[in-house]
Amino acid sequence: MSTTYRPAGLAARTDSLTSSAIRDLLALTARDDVISLAGGLPATDLIPIDRIAAAAEAALRRPDAVQYCETSGHRTLRSVVAARESLTRGGMPVPVESVIVTHGSQQALTLLAQALIDPGAVVVVDEPAYTGALQVFSIAEACIESIPITDTGMDTDELERRLAAGLRPAVVHTVANFHNPRGVTMSEQRRRHLAALADRYGFWVIEDDPYGEICFDTTESDIGVPPLPIACHSDRVIRLSSASKILAPTLRVGWFVAPPSICAAVELLKQGADLCGSSMTQLMAAEMLADTAWLDAHLVVLRREYACRATALTNALGAEFGDRLTVSRPEGGMFAWATFRDGTDTGELLDAALDHGVAFVPGTAFASDAQYRHSLRLSFAGSTPAVLAEAVRRLGAAHTASTRV
Ligand code: PMP
Repeated sequence: MSTTYRPAGLAARTDSLTSSAIRDLLALTARDDVISLAGGLPATDLIPIDRIAAAAEAALRRPDAVQYCETSGHRTLRSVVAARESLTRGGMPVPVESVIVTHGSQQALTLLAQALIDPGAVVVVDEPAYTGALQVFSIAEACIESIPITDTGMDTDELERRLAAGLRPAVVHTVANFHNPRGVTMSEQRRRHLAALADRYGFWVIEDDPYGEICFDTTESDIGVPPLPIACHSDRVIRLSSASKILAPTLRVGWFVAPPSICAAVELLKQGADLCGSSMTQLMAAEMLADTAWLDAHLVVLRREYACRATALTNALGAEFGDRLTVSRPEGGMFAWATFRDGTDTGELLDAALDHGVAFVPGTAFASDAQYRHSLRLSFAGSTPAVLAEAVRRLGAAHTASTRV
Protein backbone atom coordinates (compact mmCIF):
# COMPACT_ATOMS: atom_id res chain seq x y z
CA MET A 1 0.00 0.00 0.00
CA SER A 2 2.80 2.46 0.68
CA THR A 3 4.75 4.04 -2.16
CA THR A 4 8.50 4.57 -1.95
CA TYR A 5 9.94 7.44 -3.99
CA ARG A 6 13.61 7.27 -4.95
CA PRO A 7 14.11 10.24 -7.31
CA ALA A 8 17.60 11.05 -8.59
CA GLY A 9 19.22 14.37 -7.73
CA LEU A 10 17.43 15.10 -4.47
CA ALA A 11 18.82 15.21 -0.95
CA ALA A 12 19.69 11.88 0.66
CA ARG A 13 16.91 12.16 3.23
CA THR A 14 14.30 11.95 0.46
CA ASP A 15 15.44 8.39 -0.29
CA SER A 16 13.62 7.03 2.71
CA LEU A 17 10.40 9.00 2.25
CA THR A 18 7.35 6.78 2.17
CA SER A 19 3.80 7.82 1.57
CA SER A 20 1.28 7.17 4.34
CA ALA A 21 -0.80 4.12 3.47
CA ILE A 22 -3.86 5.96 4.75
CA ARG A 23 -3.33 9.02 2.60
CA ASP A 24 -2.88 6.72 -0.41
CA LEU A 25 -6.14 5.06 0.50
CA LEU A 26 -7.90 8.42 0.73
CA ALA A 27 -7.15 8.96 -2.95
CA LEU A 28 -8.61 5.54 -3.83
CA THR A 29 -11.72 6.07 -1.73
CA ALA A 30 -12.58 9.47 -3.17
CA ARG A 31 -14.68 7.52 -5.71
CA ASP A 32 -18.41 8.24 -5.27
CA ASP A 33 -19.26 4.53 -5.36
CA VAL A 34 -17.01 3.69 -2.39
CA ILE A 35 -18.21 3.98 1.21
CA SER A 36 -15.04 4.83 3.03
CA LEU A 37 -14.54 3.73 6.62
CA ALA A 38 -10.82 4.29 6.04
CA GLY A 39 -9.93 7.90 6.82
CA GLY A 40 -9.90 9.49 10.24
CA LEU A 41 -12.22 12.22 9.04
CA PRO A 42 -14.74 13.75 11.43
CA ALA A 43 -18.35 13.69 10.22
CA THR A 44 -18.85 16.43 7.63
CA ASP A 45 -22.56 16.58 8.48
CA LEU A 46 -21.70 17.35 12.13
CA ILE A 47 -19.21 20.14 11.42
CA PRO A 48 -20.85 23.32 12.78
CA ILE A 49 -20.89 25.28 9.52
CA ASP A 50 -23.14 28.14 10.71
CA ARG A 51 -21.11 28.67 13.87
CA ILE A 52 -17.89 28.62 11.83
CA ALA A 53 -19.36 31.20 9.43
CA ALA A 54 -20.30 33.44 12.38
CA ALA A 55 -16.81 33.05 13.86
CA ALA A 56 -15.27 33.97 10.50
CA GLU A 57 -17.51 37.02 10.26
CA ALA A 58 -16.53 38.14 13.77
CA ALA A 59 -12.82 37.50 13.17
CA LEU A 60 -12.81 39.51 9.95
CA ARG A 61 -13.96 42.61 11.81
CA ARG A 62 -10.58 42.59 13.57
CA PRO A 63 -7.64 44.08 11.66
CA ASP A 64 -5.27 41.58 13.27
CA ALA A 65 -7.18 38.69 11.64
CA VAL A 66 -5.68 39.50 8.25
CA GLN A 67 -2.13 40.04 9.49
CA TYR A 68 0.82 37.91 10.52
CA CYS A 69 0.77 37.01 14.21
CA GLU A 70 3.34 35.82 16.75
CA THR A 71 5.08 32.59 15.75
CA SER A 72 3.95 30.92 18.99
CA GLY A 73 0.33 31.62 18.10
CA HIS A 74 -2.22 34.39 18.48
CA ARG A 75 -2.30 35.46 22.13
CA THR A 76 -6.12 35.31 22.21
CA LEU A 77 -6.13 31.64 21.24
CA ARG A 78 -3.21 30.76 23.51
CA SER A 79 -5.12 32.23 26.48
CA VAL A 80 -8.30 30.31 25.64
CA VAL A 81 -6.33 27.09 25.19
CA ALA A 82 -4.42 27.60 28.46
CA ALA A 83 -7.70 28.03 30.37
CA ARG A 84 -9.29 24.99 28.71
CA GLU A 85 -6.18 22.88 29.25
CA SER A 86 -6.19 23.83 32.93
CA LEU A 87 -9.77 22.50 33.23
CA THR A 88 -8.78 19.25 31.48
CA ARG A 89 -6.00 18.90 34.07
CA GLY A 90 -8.45 19.19 36.95
CA GLY A 91 -7.62 22.83 37.72
CA MET A 92 -3.81 22.61 37.46
CA PRO A 93 -2.52 26.05 36.33
CA VAL A 94 -1.32 26.19 32.71
CA PRO A 95 0.63 29.39 31.85
CA VAL A 96 -0.16 30.99 28.48
CA GLU A 97 3.60 30.95 27.72
CA SER A 98 3.60 27.14 27.82
CA VAL A 99 1.13 26.93 24.91
CA ILE A 100 2.34 26.88 21.29
CA VAL A 101 -0.22 26.91 18.48
CA THR A 102 0.60 24.82 15.41
CA HIS A 103 -0.81 24.08 11.96
CA GLY A 104 -2.82 21.10 13.25
CA SER A 105 -1.25 18.81 15.81
CA GLN A 106 0.54 17.07 12.94
CA GLN A 107 2.82 20.12 12.67
CA ALA A 108 3.40 19.92 16.41
CA LEU A 109 4.68 16.37 15.91
CA THR A 110 6.97 17.50 13.08
CA LEU A 111 8.44 20.43 14.99
CA LEU A 112 8.83 18.42 18.19
CA ALA A 113 10.64 15.71 16.25
CA GLN A 114 13.03 18.36 14.92
CA ALA A 115 13.56 19.75 18.41
CA LEU A 116 13.96 16.49 20.31
CA ILE A 117 15.27 13.78 17.99
CA ASP A 118 18.79 13.50 16.58
CA PRO A 119 19.24 11.07 13.65
CA GLY A 120 19.54 7.57 15.11
CA ALA A 121 17.93 8.49 18.44
CA VAL A 122 15.43 6.00 19.81
CA VAL A 123 11.74 6.84 19.75
CA VAL A 124 9.21 4.51 21.33
CA VAL A 125 5.73 4.31 19.82
CA ASP A 126 2.57 2.36 20.52
CA GLU A 127 2.11 -0.91 18.68
CA PRO A 128 -0.03 -0.48 16.64
CA ALA A 129 0.79 3.22 16.19
CA TYR A 130 -0.72 6.38 14.68
CA THR A 131 0.63 6.32 11.10
CA GLY A 132 1.22 10.10 11.03
CA ALA A 133 3.59 9.74 13.98
CA LEU A 134 5.43 6.84 12.33
CA GLN A 135 5.90 9.01 9.26
CA VAL A 136 7.23 12.00 11.23
CA PHE A 137 9.66 9.89 13.26
CA SER A 138 10.96 8.10 10.21
CA ILE A 139 11.55 11.45 8.43
CA ALA A 140 13.47 12.51 11.57
CA GLU A 141 15.63 9.39 11.00
CA ALA A 142 14.73 8.04 14.43
CA CYS A 143 15.27 4.44 15.39
CA ILE A 144 11.64 3.44 16.06
CA GLU A 145 10.89 0.87 18.77
CA SER A 146 7.37 -0.30 19.60
CA ILE A 147 5.68 -1.31 22.82
CA PRO A 148 2.41 -3.24 22.47
CA ILE A 149 -0.79 -1.70 23.69
CA THR A 150 -3.47 -3.70 25.44
CA ASP A 151 -6.99 -2.80 26.51
CA THR A 152 -5.54 -0.35 29.05
CA GLY A 153 -3.07 1.41 26.77
CA MET A 154 0.68 1.09 26.27
CA ASP A 155 2.09 -1.83 28.27
CA THR A 156 4.26 0.19 30.63
CA ASP A 157 5.52 -2.98 32.39
CA GLU A 158 7.00 -4.10 29.08
CA LEU A 159 8.46 -0.61 28.59
CA GLU A 160 10.02 -0.80 32.05
CA ARG A 161 11.56 -4.19 31.22
CA ARG A 162 13.03 -2.79 28.00
CA LEU A 163 14.38 0.28 29.83
CA ALA A 164 15.95 -1.96 32.48
CA ALA A 165 17.56 -3.92 29.64
CA GLY A 166 19.19 -0.76 28.30
CA LEU A 167 16.65 0.89 25.95
CA ARG A 168 17.23 4.66 26.12
CA PRO A 169 14.53 6.55 24.20
CA ALA A 170 14.67 10.29 23.63
CA VAL A 171 10.89 10.30 23.23
CA VAL A 172 7.91 8.04 23.92
CA HIS A 173 4.86 8.87 21.81
CA THR A 174 1.45 7.61 22.85
CA VAL A 175 -2.23 8.27 22.14
CA ALA A 176 -3.66 7.73 25.61
CA ASN A 177 -7.31 8.58 24.89
CA PHE A 178 -9.42 6.55 22.44
CA HIS A 179 -6.37 5.34 20.62
CA ASN A 180 -5.89 5.64 16.88
CA PRO A 181 -6.20 2.87 15.65
CA ARG A 182 -7.04 0.57 18.61
CA GLY A 183 -9.70 2.75 20.28
CA VAL A 184 -8.52 1.93 23.82
CA THR A 185 -7.81 4.37 26.67
CA MET A 186 -4.76 4.18 28.95
CA SER A 187 -5.60 3.43 32.57
CA GLU A 188 -4.74 5.89 35.31
CA GLN A 189 -2.25 3.43 36.79
CA ARG A 190 -0.37 3.16 33.48
CA ARG A 191 -0.41 6.95 33.06
CA ARG A 192 1.27 7.34 36.45
CA HIS A 193 3.69 4.52 35.64
CA LEU A 194 4.69 6.06 32.28
CA ALA A 195 5.18 9.47 33.93
CA ALA A 196 7.34 7.91 36.67
CA LEU A 197 9.46 6.10 34.05
CA ALA A 198 9.91 9.39 32.15
CA ASP A 199 11.17 11.03 35.34
CA ARG A 200 13.44 8.10 36.22
CA TYR A 201 14.98 7.59 32.76
CA GLY A 202 14.84 11.18 31.52
CA PHE A 203 12.86 10.78 28.28
CA TRP A 204 10.10 13.03 26.96
CA VAL A 205 6.55 11.75 26.60
CA ILE A 206 4.46 13.10 23.72
CA GLU A 207 0.87 12.67 24.85
CA ASP A 208 -1.02 13.05 21.58
CA ASP A 209 -4.68 13.74 22.33
CA PRO A 210 -6.96 14.75 19.46
CA TYR A 211 -9.81 12.47 20.62
CA GLY A 212 -10.09 13.00 24.40
CA GLU A 213 -13.13 15.28 24.12
CA ILE A 214 -15.08 12.75 22.08
CA CYS A 215 -15.95 10.51 25.00
CA PHE A 216 -19.21 8.62 24.96
CA ASP A 217 -20.10 9.55 28.50
CA THR A 218 -23.22 7.67 29.44
CA THR A 219 -25.38 9.07 32.19
CA GLU A 220 -25.49 5.73 34.04
CA SER A 221 -21.75 5.32 34.46
CA ASP A 222 -18.59 7.20 33.75
CA ILE A 223 -17.42 4.74 31.12
CA GLY A 224 -15.76 6.77 28.44
CA VAL A 225 -14.49 9.65 30.57
CA PRO A 226 -10.70 9.44 30.32
CA PRO A 227 -8.53 9.69 33.45
CA LEU A 228 -6.49 12.88 34.02
CA PRO A 229 -3.81 13.50 31.36
CA ILE A 230 -0.35 11.93 31.76
CA ALA A 231 0.89 15.53 31.87
CA CYS A 232 -0.65 15.84 35.35
CA HIS A 233 1.93 13.37 36.67
CA SER A 234 5.25 14.62 35.25
CA ASP A 235 6.90 17.76 33.82
CA ARG A 236 8.48 15.61 31.15
CA VAL A 237 5.19 15.36 29.21
CA ILE A 238 4.31 17.43 26.14
CA ARG A 239 0.55 17.35 25.54
CA LEU A 240 -0.85 17.82 22.04
CA SER A 241 -4.45 18.65 21.19
CA SER A 242 -6.34 19.84 18.17
CA ALA A 243 -9.43 21.64 16.96
CA SER A 244 -9.70 19.24 14.01
CA LYS A 245 -12.01 16.63 15.50
CA ILE A 246 -14.22 18.92 17.60
CA LEU A 247 -14.51 21.95 15.27
CA ALA A 248 -13.13 21.31 11.78
CA PRO A 249 -9.89 20.01 10.25
CA THR A 250 -9.87 22.87 7.73
CA LEU A 251 -9.01 25.38 10.48
CA ARG A 252 -5.62 23.63 10.79
CA VAL A 253 -5.40 24.67 14.41
CA GLY A 254 -3.62 22.45 16.89
CA TRP A 255 -1.49 23.20 19.94
CA PHE A 256 0.78 21.74 22.55
CA VAL A 257 1.69 22.53 26.14
CA ALA A 258 5.34 22.03 27.09
CA PRO A 259 8.12 23.26 29.40
CA PRO A 260 9.78 26.60 28.46
CA SER A 261 12.95 25.13 26.89
CA ILE A 262 10.88 23.10 24.43
CA CYS A 263 8.54 25.98 23.61
CA ALA A 264 11.54 28.24 22.91
CA ALA A 265 13.20 25.70 20.59
CA VAL A 266 9.99 24.94 18.72
CA GLU A 267 9.27 28.63 18.28
CA LEU A 268 12.59 29.06 16.47
CA LEU A 269 11.95 25.99 14.32
CA LYS A 270 8.47 27.27 13.49
CA GLN A 271 9.85 30.68 12.49
CA GLY A 272 11.82 28.85 9.83
CA ALA A 273 8.92 26.58 8.89
CA ASP A 274 6.07 29.05 8.37
CA LEU A 275 6.71 32.36 10.23
CA CYS A 276 3.31 31.91 11.91
CA GLY A 277 -0.03 30.17 11.58
CA SER A 278 -3.16 31.77 10.13
CA SER A 279 -4.38 34.59 12.39
CA MET A 280 -7.80 34.24 10.83
CA THR A 281 -8.44 30.61 11.71
CA GLN A 282 -6.76 30.98 15.12
CA LEU A 283 -9.16 33.81 15.99
CA MET A 284 -12.09 31.75 14.70
CA ALA A 285 -11.04 28.78 16.84
CA ALA A 286 -10.52 31.06 19.87
CA GLU A 287 -14.02 32.51 19.48
CA MET A 288 -15.66 29.08 19.32
CA LEU A 289 -13.57 27.48 22.08
CA ALA A 290 -14.28 30.44 24.39
CA ASP A 291 -18.04 30.18 23.80
CA THR A 292 -18.38 27.39 26.34
CA ALA A 293 -22.19 27.28 26.37
CA TRP A 294 -22.21 26.69 22.62
CA LEU A 295 -19.19 24.35 22.67
CA ASP A 296 -20.58 22.16 25.44
CA ALA A 297 -23.87 21.78 23.56
CA HIS A 298 -21.97 21.00 20.34
CA LEU A 299 -19.87 18.36 22.10
CA VAL A 300 -23.01 16.72 23.51
CA VAL A 301 -24.37 16.37 19.97
CA LEU A 302 -21.03 15.03 18.64
CA ARG A 303 -20.66 12.50 21.44
CA ARG A 304 -24.25 11.29 21.19
CA GLU A 305 -24.12 10.92 17.42
CA TYR A 306 -20.69 9.23 17.41
CA ALA A 307 -21.83 6.83 20.15
CA CYS A 308 -24.85 5.96 18.04
CA ARG A 309 -22.69 5.41 14.93
CA ALA A 310 -20.19 3.29 16.87
CA THR A 311 -22.98 1.04 18.12
CA ALA A 312 -24.49 0.79 14.62
CA LEU A 313 -21.12 -0.30 13.20
CA THR A 314 -20.22 -2.83 15.88
CA ASN A 315 -23.74 -4.34 15.90
CA ALA A 316 -23.70 -4.69 12.11
CA LEU A 317 -20.24 -6.32 12.20
CA GLY A 318 -21.44 -8.74 14.89
CA ALA A 319 -24.50 -9.68 12.86
CA GLU A 320 -22.52 -10.09 9.62
CA PHE A 321 -19.43 -11.96 10.86
CA GLY A 322 -20.39 -13.47 14.23
CA ASP A 323 -17.50 -15.32 15.89
CA ARG A 324 -15.23 -14.98 12.88
CA LEU A 325 -14.42 -11.38 13.84
CA THR A 326 -13.62 -9.85 17.23
CA VAL A 327 -14.60 -6.19 17.37
CA SER A 328 -13.60 -3.57 19.95
CA ARG A 329 -16.33 -1.70 21.81
CA PRO A 330 -15.45 1.98 21.29
CA GLU A 331 -15.93 4.23 24.31
CA GLY A 332 -14.95 7.38 22.44
CA GLY A 333 -13.00 8.68 19.47
CA MET A 334 -13.71 7.65 15.90
CA PHE A 335 -12.46 4.09 15.38
CA ALA A 336 -13.37 0.46 15.87
CA TRP A 337 -10.60 -2.14 15.66
CA ALA A 338 -11.46 -5.62 14.49
CA THR A 339 -9.51 -8.87 14.05
CA PHE A 340 -10.49 -11.86 11.92
CA ARG A 341 -10.20 -15.21 13.67
CA ASP A 342 -10.59 -17.19 10.45
CA GLY A 343 -7.17 -16.31 8.99
CA THR A 344 -8.45 -13.57 6.66
CA ASP A 345 -5.61 -11.34 5.44
CA THR A 346 -7.06 -7.82 5.55
CA GLY A 347 -4.60 -6.50 2.96
CA GLU A 348 -6.01 -9.04 0.48
CA LEU A 349 -9.55 -8.39 1.67
CA LEU A 350 -9.12 -4.68 0.89
CA ASP A 351 -8.81 -5.36 -2.86
CA ALA A 352 -12.09 -7.28 -2.83
CA ALA A 353 -13.65 -4.64 -0.57
CA LEU A 354 -12.79 -1.83 -2.98
CA ASP A 355 -14.34 -3.89 -5.80
CA HIS A 356 -17.49 -4.13 -3.66
CA GLY A 357 -17.49 -0.38 -2.88
CA VAL A 358 -16.22 -0.23 0.70
CA ALA A 359 -12.86 0.76 2.22
CA PHE A 360 -11.08 0.32 5.54
CA VAL A 361 -7.47 0.46 6.68
CA PRO A 362 -5.67 -2.90 6.97
CA GLY A 363 -3.89 -3.46 10.29
CA THR A 364 -0.44 -3.65 8.67
CA ALA A 365 -0.58 0.12 8.00
CA PHE A 366 -0.08 0.72 11.73
CA ALA A 367 3.06 -1.29 12.37
CA SER A 368 6.38 -1.64 10.61
CA ASP A 369 6.18 -5.43 10.24
CA ALA A 370 3.51 -7.82 9.01
CA GLN A 371 1.72 -8.34 12.28
CA TYR A 372 -1.89 -7.20 12.48
CA ARG A 373 -2.44 -8.67 9.05
CA HIS A 374 -5.73 -10.13 10.27
CA SER A 375 -6.85 -6.80 11.76
CA LEU A 376 -8.49 -3.72 10.34
CA ARG A 377 -9.42 -0.21 11.47
CA LEU A 378 -12.90 1.03 10.67
CA SER A 379 -13.95 4.64 11.17
CA PHE A 380 -17.57 4.99 12.18
CA ALA A 381 -17.49 8.79 12.47
CA GLY A 382 -18.21 9.87 8.92
CA SER A 383 -21.23 7.71 8.05
CA THR A 384 -24.79 7.54 9.28
CA PRO A 385 -26.04 4.26 10.82
CA ALA A 386 -27.83 3.34 7.57
CA VAL A 387 -24.68 3.88 5.51
CA LEU A 388 -22.62 1.92 8.05
CA ALA A 389 -25.06 -0.99 7.73
CA GLU A 390 -24.66 -0.93 3.94
CA ALA A 391 -20.85 -0.72 4.29
CA VAL A 392 -20.83 -3.83 6.49
CA ARG A 393 -23.11 -5.67 4.04
CA ARG A 394 -20.59 -4.89 1.26
CA LEU A 395 -17.71 -5.98 3.49
CA GLY A 396 -19.48 -9.28 4.12
CA ALA A 397 -19.93 -9.79 0.36
CA ALA A 398 -16.26 -8.93 -0.24
CA HIS A 399 -15.20 -11.40 2.45
CA THR A 400 -17.31 -14.14 0.89
CA ALA A 401 -15.90 -13.36 -2.56
CA SER A 402 -12.28 -13.25 -1.37
CA THR A 403 -12.50 -16.50 0.60
CA ARG A 404 -14.14 -18.25 -2.35
CA VAL A 405 -11.09 -17.64 -4.59
N1 PMP B 1 -2.52 12.70 16.23
C1 PMP B 1 -3.38 11.70 16.03
C2 PMP B 1 -3.37 10.52 16.95
C3 PMP B 1 -4.30 11.76 14.98
O1 PMP B 1 -5.17 10.74 14.81
C4 PMP B 1 -4.30 12.89 14.12
C5 PMP B 1 -5.23 13.01 12.94
N2 PMP B 1 -5.78 11.91 12.42
C6 PMP B 1 -3.35 13.90 14.37
C7 PMP B 1 -2.49 13.78 15.44
C8 PMP B 1 -3.25 15.12 13.50
O2 PMP B 1 -4.41 15.87 13.47
P1 PMP B 1 -4.47 17.41 13.09
O3 PMP B 1 -3.17 17.76 12.42
O4 PMP B 1 -5.64 17.55 12.19
O5 PMP B 1 -4.63 18.15 14.38
